[in-house]
Amino acid sequence: MKNKSKHHSPWGTSLRILPWDKQEDEEPTLTEKLISSTVTEWYEAKHREPSEEEISLINSIEITECPACGKTSFVKFGFSHGGIQQYKCKECNVRFTALTNTIFQDRKIPISEWIEYLMHLFEFHSIATSARDNRNASSTGTYWLHKVFTVLEDIQKDVVLEGNVYIDEMFFPVIKNKTVLKDGKKLRGISRNKICVGCGYDDKGHVLLIVENTSKPSDRSTWNAYGTHIKPESTLHHDGEKSHGILISNLNLTSIVYTSEETKGLKDEDNPLDPINDLHGLAKRFMREHGGYDRSNLQGWMNLIWFILSEPYNRFEKIRNFIEIAISTHKVVKYRDVFRKKGRRNRKNHHASAN
Ligand SMILES: [Zn+2]
Repeated sequence: MKNKSKHHSPWGTSLRILPWDKQEDEEPTLTEKLISSTVTEWYEAKHREPSEEEISLINSIEITECPACGKTSFVKFGFSHGGIQQYKCKECNVRFTALTNTIFQDRKIPISEWIEYLMHLFEFHSIATSARDNRNASSTGTYWLHKVFTVLEDIQKDVVLEGNVYIDEMFFPVIKNKTVLKDGKKLRGISRNKICVGCGYDDKGHVLLIVENTSKPSDRSTWNAYGTHIKPESTLHHDGEKSHGILISNLNLTSIVYTSEETKGLKDEDNPLDPINDLHGLAKRFMREHGGYDRSNLQGWMNLIWFILSEPYNRFEKIRNFIEIAISTHKVVKYRDVFRKKGRRNRKNHHASAN
């Protein structure tokens, strides 16, 4: 991957090739040799062959069909990469492994490398920091993030809030080149420059974060965001936003309204809407920490925040769940697709700030 930035980013180019590697007629200096051997050591630690444990995991995955044609007549066909079981389809002759068509199908990077990346990601670390820690080119962070979004695409599908349910909308600015101008002036307030995200929370700790694709909640956007995610007969705690009425009537909810006059000036612990305010605060903080990044996949970000804030709360258990979902999610993310579509816009908006 070429570094297209005008600036010389210390992390933008591959760390594998050092400037003095290209000088054929000159012997590197002792300082250069020290740097080379250190960087090679890092690189090798990061790009080793899969471990015994990783191979056992991959070979334990049950294959039900050929990833290319979907037929079930395939045979075992030798091993690769130090012991990963290969298969061959008898119908279409395609060779594959258990990881074909998953986000792990690029075997240059072992699954184990993901563990460190996910550790940082689930800790609210910035992606830029993770890329540095992983000692890969900086674009890897964005590429992996898209893979994470793919794995978590349907993660909130079955969420149902029940009992005491708190809901409230929060707003994120849209990316800069989409800012709506009126007579050459930027529109202010909750205009088309903000995207509404429906947030929910219940006293069992369930979380919901759904992008409403609109600037102001309407009956329709409210219903689309929350309709299937609140159990009928629950108690709804909210600020009395008009469009919530459709939820109250369709789902037969008991409505308890706290107006902003009532909650203004209350201490957090006394504010009945504190759990949902807290959720807003965490989500906004997370987005701020990832300020330089493309905001077009806002739902992807919300799914990630959801995953971080939901059970299991232990990071290692989260990583286990993520890897298990990823292994069974047969969707591929191609490097060139991520950057072909977004490359231009990304560069333009690189300095657009998050709110
Ligand atoms: Zn096939």
